[in-house]
Amino acid sequence: MATLTFEQARQCVLKELRAARPEPKIELVGLSEAGGRVLAEPITSDRDYPALSRSVRDGFAVRAADLPGDLFVIGEVRAGEAFEGEVQPGEALEIMTGAPLPRGADSVVMVEHCTVEGDRVNVPRTLALGENVSPRASQAAENEVLLEAGRRLGFAEIGLLAMVGATKVPVYARPQVAILPTGDEIVEVNQTPLDYQVRNSNVESLAVQVKRAGGCPTVLPIARDLYQATRELTEHGLRFDMLLLSGGVSAGKYDIVERVLADLGAEFYFDRVLIMPGQPLVFGRAREKFFFGLPGNPASTMVTFEIFARSAVELLGGQKEAQLPLVWSKLSQDFRQKTGLTRFLPAVLSADGDQVTAMSWQGSGDVPSLARANAFLVTEPDRENWAAGDWIRVLLK
Ligand code: AMP
Ligand code: MG
Repeated sequence: MATLTFEQARQCVLKELRAARPEPKIELVGLSEAGGRVLAEPITSDRDYPALSRSVRDGFAVRAADLPGDLFVIGEVRAGEAFEGEVQPGEALEIMTGAPLPRGADSVVMVEHCTVEGDRVNVPRTLALGENVSPRASQAAENEVLLEAGRRLGFAEIGLLAMVGATKVPVYARPQVAILPTGDEIVEVNQTPLDYQVRNSNVESLAVQVKRAGGCPTVLPIARDLYQATRELTEHGLRFDMLLLSGGVSAGKYDIVERVLADLGAEFYFDRVLIMPGQPLVFGRAREKFFFGLPGNPASTMVTFEIFARSAVELLGGQKEAQLPLVWSKLSQDFRQKTGLTRFLPAVLSADGDQVTAMSWQGSGDVPSLARANAFLVTEPDRENWAAGDWIRVLLK
């Protein structure tokens, strides 16, 4: 079956999801519940923004052609009111930030640039036409599309919806994601494992990751490494919008996940990716549902979800784009690695983001190190040496 590079595997996930994801259902939610959801219909502007030309400074509304000069002050206008009269040649109107520009005026001179004496104001400088004025409809015109469907709603998007008076927001239903742990050595988190057992931590980390990607996780019971049990739970998992299996995808005698999926008629897009952690990694589709067979080692599970499954959940949830949160930073120390794989290594990115330090790392089972990290170094597979100060790609955690 297919072994892909990191880039090929990512392109494959994005391509298959785009080609075959079903259109999600639409729900109407209140504005205060819409944060983190995905917009399902375009949002249009209910009026011009700003609705009137308005001042962006405290000062005097004037006719630019009158300047420099000595002008007669005919009154004032504050934010939240409109001035009825008109500014004639040789006149000025005192104006506050946010107040509408009066008829006749075309520009605003800042109060700091004026000298006021009784009912006269002296302006010793010239102004560009329209200076310090935010013209009507300069941000958006009435009925203009402000936000397309498929956008995840963050704080700025919610602010925009509030601005246009959207009290009910059409959003896509969250994708339902089943999480199926496999393995004879797994015990529940509230149990005390024997020395040769481990607690079922993967389902907890995956549930958080699914939620962060906009999905709704359901944790299934542990599938023991027996064909029939694994098959029944896998069939159950394939009734959800997507299935994440943890473990059972390596080459061991009891790694039966791929065989079960094949018997359920799965189409496999890849089953190995040239990355570390997480080389054995299965992505495919069965019964019209996408699935990932994630390697069981906890760090591998977490990393492979972040770099592949996260985008799949996002796209399944109706998001138009699914980007990895990648940035560039400079290494604090020299760094060496073997070539051949794209590595995702736990790292600490400095508070201002200008320096990144690799952490000591014991491999795919090293959850303590991963939990203390705030990012991953992303190495290029064909490069062996980096020097302190070299730029390197960083995946945010
Ligand atoms: P596997 O991919 O099935 O060979 O599993 C590799 C290793 O991952 C196992 O030896 C376990 O230590 C660990 N592992 C598998 N499943 C889980 C899980 N649900 N929670 C925590 N660790 C797990
Ligand atoms: Mg196993």
